Amino acid sequence: MKFDRSRFTQALTRQWQRFGLHDAKEMTPDQWWQALSGALADMLAERSAPPAATTQRHVNYISMEFLIGRLTGNNLLNLGWYDAVNEALAVWDISLSEIEERETDPALGNGGLGRLAACFLDSMATVGQPATGYGLNYQYGLFRQHFVDGAQQELPDDWQRDCYPWFSHNAALTVEVNLGGKVMTQNGVHRWQPAVQIRGEAWDLPVVGYQNGVTQPLRLWQAKHAQPFDLQRFNNGDFLRAEQQGIDAEKLTKVLYPNDNHDNGKKLRLMQQYFQCACSLADILRRHHRAGRSIESLPDYEVIQLNDTHPTLAIPELMRLLLDEHQISWENAWQITQRTFAYTNHTLMPEALECWDVRMVRALLPRHLMIINTLNAQLKKQVEARWPGDDATWAKLALVHNNQLRMANLCVTSGFAVNGVAALHSQLVVKDLFPEYHALWPAKFHNVTNGITPRRWINQCNPALAALITKTLDRPWLTDLDQLKGLEIYADHAAFQAQYRAIKQQNKLSLTRWIAERTGIRVNPQALFDVQIKRLHEYKRQHLALLHTIALWQTLVSDPQANLAPRVVLFGAKAAPGYVLAKNIIYAINKVAATINNDPRIGDRLKVVFIPDYNVSVAERLIPAADLSEQISTAGKEASGTGNMKLALNGALTIGTLDGANVEIAEQVGSENIFIFGHTVDEVSALKAAGYSPDGWRKKDAQLDRALTALEDGTFSDGDVSAFAPLLHSLSSAGGDPYLVLADFRHYLNAQAQAETLWADQDGWTRAAILNTARCGMFSADRAVRDYQQRIWQAAR
Ligand SMILES: *Cc1c(COP(=O)(O)O)cnc(C)c1O
Repeated sequence: MKFDRSRFTQALTRQWQRFGLHDAKEMTPDQWWQALSGALADMLAERSAPPAATTQRHVNYISMEFLIGRLTGNNLLNLGWYDAVNEALAVWDISLSEIEERETDPALGNGGLGRLAACFLDSMATVGQPATGYGLNYQYGLFRQHFVDGAQQELPDDWQRDCYPWFSHNAALTVEVNLGGKVMTQNGVHRWQPAVQIRGEAWDLPVVGYQNGVTQPLRLWQAKHAQPFDLQRFNNGDFLRAEQQGIDAEKLTKVLYPNDNHDNGKKLRLMQQYFQCACSLADILRRHHRAGRSIESLPDYEVIQLNDTHPTLAIPELMRLLLDEHQISWENAWQITQRTFAYTNHTLMPEALECWDVRMVRALLPRHLMIINTLNAQLKKQVEARWPGDDATWAKLALVHNNQLRMANLCVTSGFAVNGVAALHSQLVVKDLFPEYHALWPAKFHNVTNGITPRRWINQCNPALAALITKTLDRPWLTDLDQLKGLEIYADHAAFQAQYRAIKQQNKLSLTRWIAERTGIRVNPQALFDVQIKRLHEYKRQHLALLHTIALWQTLVSDPQANLAPRVVLFGAKAAPGYVLAKNIIYAINKVAATINNDPRIGDRLKVVFIPDYNVSVAERLIPAADLSEQISTAGKEASGTGNMKLALNGALTIGTLDGANVEIAEQVGSENIFIFGHTVDEVSALKAAGYSPDGWRKKDAQLDRALTALEDGTFSDGDVSAFAPLLHSLSSAGGDPYLVLADFRHYLNAQAQAETLWADQDGWTRAAILNTARCGMFSADRAVRDYQQRIWQAAR
């Protein structure tokens, strides 16, 4: 749709008039953001593009997390209105980029999983895959992080959902959700008599396709009490308790659980999961009925993609609706259900595989547990037929075992497709996690390597690079990212190299200014920017990067002539508030940073900066300015990673293990344009099988020993020798070093030395960076969405 300036001015005028002002000029910067976004949201709502007729199944993407990031700038770019609005605002002497900075990130996710969901929504709208995203409208997003003497402190993130201008609320879509109570059975008919009813309100955010006129909803459910207000009680003078019920119900969507890759089995979390599933299914079935379709035809029109196991309860909920509300036979209900659901697995790590206490499930969802028990009995027959008398196999495959309900098992059993998120991960899903299920149903298993949307992760965050690509290729590439291959021929081209490098340098310069503002630390913009940004986790091994940093510092101190490139080591990471070791790693990094940054012997040859409050907007600043991308997880632990893709696309060279999508990045960019190190998946298993002894590895390597000793002896902690006890314990034989930090240390340092060597040859480095950009087209989320379409959503069925 073309930008209509007079409609824009009218819409904007309505906004400032609502504030009770007489002129746009009276608006504060925050009001400008509100007014601009509100005006655009109104214009978007008026835009009437009837959905294109399609034979494709509608995708219902259910996810507990959508880490969408700021919307105003992104929507403007996808609408193609950015420049026109920028021009229109010039009349008031207002800068669009400053307005954009006023938006609080809607941080409705923890990390990669939630960001993936956001990228997929963008791509589905862009490639013409009809879709609805279903999530929860948390009042408090992921906590805000700040540091007090180097230690992480958490502050609530009240992102002001109640006045977020991009929301539209449709009261007609409100649904009712039941909880608790008991099941009455008469003549084989089951009736659930719930104890509590909660209302789910639908709050929609627009997902704007890239310059194609498509807008699809991200529908976020918000819990409300069923009866708005107990008037009886109020009239009786019981003012405070009159609202009591509402206060309890509304707790449901107050907070996002801040755990990433870790299950903690809390009752409120289970209630959130069911609430989301019940609301979303009611909405999907309503849409299906409105279209005049029979319930039996549901899977011909709708597919439900479960982003990890968090929305698994949608499975027994659909069974319940089919059996109890639509009186469909068990066999038919099971057929319909199996043809509707597909499940994406995101992890192999046992601590992240969701299990629920059966007693808790029974108390909240008695009818659902009955259904699950019947499914379990049905599965048992199948397993018994295949592996007669094999109790050990049944113990692995059961849906319910030792009073635990295993969500992944329910997903694999009940859906028509299971996918991992990178080639290596999908192999391990089959080989290590679900080998027996694979033996039963080999055709269910797929790989869909993750992707990222190039609209946000290059066009929006790196406009100068996007402009250079557009000028160079002279054809559309943002919706066809394989076109980047056309840049390969310029990799050795001196003029192109100069332009490419100048853009990186400019991005580094503006990051340098921003770092100074945010942290007070001055860094050298000519230095190598070495970036590790992701959730804080032992398996991601920020502590390995820390040991390398300490080793660099010790080298510079003992040998001031050492031939080392100036380097800025940048971290961004939040730790789950209850994850003691992760918080200790943050503390250690901050203490080491303070020591190094204030060491007059070092100057600007080495600086370490931990950027507080890592989120999507921070990522958008760091990624275009990165030279080196740290992707150093223990092989087999990172399912895919998507930060690795964003950084490579923006011309950072990866230093990484053969893990997740790093394997495919290496294949794409070529081994001379990436620094691969470390034990492979098979070598990790062999090492553990042979009896891994971290203390032995420490003894063998003097440099490693020296770095660890500095953490032990109080060098970084004003003599406090216990400051990093949790970290040091985990890296000792007593702690077992479960993620093989010590075993990969030497190989990592060698890879870092290789990076230094290439950095010394700036033309060589720039060439490799250009080839990274040119060869990362396959990591577009558009490609991932098309893979889902071909292999799963629209596959012959
Ligand atoms: C991309 C992204 C992630 C995922 O990063 P990984 O390195 O793949 O773990 C996490 N958080 C934010 C804010 C992101 O943008």
